[in-house]
Amino acid sequence: GSTWEHVQQAPPDPIIGVNDSYRADTDPRKLNLGVGAYRTEEGKPYVLRAVREAEAALAADPAANKEYLPIAGLPEFNRLSRELALGPGHAAIRDGRVATVQALSGTGALRVGAEFLAQHLPPGQPRVVYVPNPTWGNHKTIFGKAGMQVREYRYFDAKTRGLDFAGMCADIGAAPPGAVLLLHACAHNPTGVDPSPDQWRQLLALTQEKRLLPFFDSAYQGFASGDLDADAASVRLFASAPGPQEMVLAQSFAKNMGLYGERAGALSVVCRSKDVAGRVESQLKLVIRPMYSNPPMHGAAIAARVMADPRLNALWKEELAGMANRIKAMRQALYGQLVARQLPGDWSFVLKQIGMFSYTGLSKAQCEALTRKWHIHLTMDGRISMAGLSAASCPYLAEAIADVVA
Ligand code: PMP
Repeated sequence: GSTWEHVQQAPPDPIIGVNDSYRADTDPRKLNLGVGAYRTEEGKPYVLRAVREAEAALAADPAANKEYLPIAGLPEFNRLSRELALGPGHAAIRDGRVATVQALSGTGALRVGAEFLAQHLPPGQPRVVYVPNPTWGNHKTIFGKAGMQVREYRYFDAKTRGLDFAGMCADIGAAPPGAVLLLHACAHNPTGVDPSPDQWRQLLALTQEKRLLPFFDSAYQGFASGDLDADAASVRLFASAPGPQEMVLAQSFAKNMGLYGERAGALSVVCRSKDVAGRVESQLKLVIRPMYSNPPMHGAAIAARVMADPRLNALWKEELAGMANRIKAMRQALYGQLVARQLPGDWSFVLKQIGMFSYTGLSKAQCEALTRKWHIHLTMDGRISMAGLSAASCPYLAEAIADVVA
């Protein structure tokens, strides 16, 4: 018999699957709001000018080659990445107590981080990570596959479509000492709901009191507000707490530099001393080497150049603000269209939520109707990508929503 005859059909990925259903749809009105990728007002993918220019400079550089990168990746990229997150001249960086490795975008950083934690949390300590409910669909699988036990803390309040802060604190407060606490640095995916600055301070105090290990997932720095520093506030608050604080940080350049397919990311482990950081880095390399040996060069080289070159850096910040502002404008436009149709309930959450996504609270049945009747493709949890909207498509979406909630 055949070796593979018994293999079962796997279900499509709930997020990536939306792209397939969109592509298969032949209706000209079709709209893709599932994809977590920025689109221009014309619905096209956007390659940043700063990225194009960095690529041109790299292509013209006679010293450039295609040799292997070190296991830990491009040193310049690692240095600039952690500075981008923590802020240049941060004490932890100055002290040399941050171990950074290049990773296959945010997903790879999370996976390498999870593998490292599963192997190297102190003996006898529970291998458990607390993630928000809901969270990005891949989080639980990534940590689960790495051998961590995954538990949830309350996060989203369906009634207010805002943060369930009391529930969040109660669940985090009940975590065992040494547990890993996964936090979205900004622009929480899928809800678009973030803690306020004061709530972040309370979360820091709770994390310290309960001796939890914060693990920040930073997939949207600069993309949420348009400002790289503002979006790093939570990470910097935790990294600057008296301690010295230990934490883990996964960074992605997919959204903020539009480098999705280049897989440029970084994993940093903030340690108590330079000596520990050196040992941690040596173990991170042992995680990486048998998985993919060393990371790809092109995306990291682009990102490093954009961060290091003052002119490209300024251009990047301008384009980043442009992307964030277009998304904010889409929130205003959609909200205006919904209000104009006098829908039942309070839809102001569309304005309050932050980042790429809005979590509409639409039921699975309503989402299915949006796709079936209106050719609007989205994940069945009611998450819509604001980046997939345009001034032209907002009225159509509002009309469709009004129909399915009626
Ligand atoms: N974390 C979060 C919260 C995300 O939304 C994403 C992308 N959707 C990622 C991590 C990983 O993205 P990538 O691997 O493309 O950097």
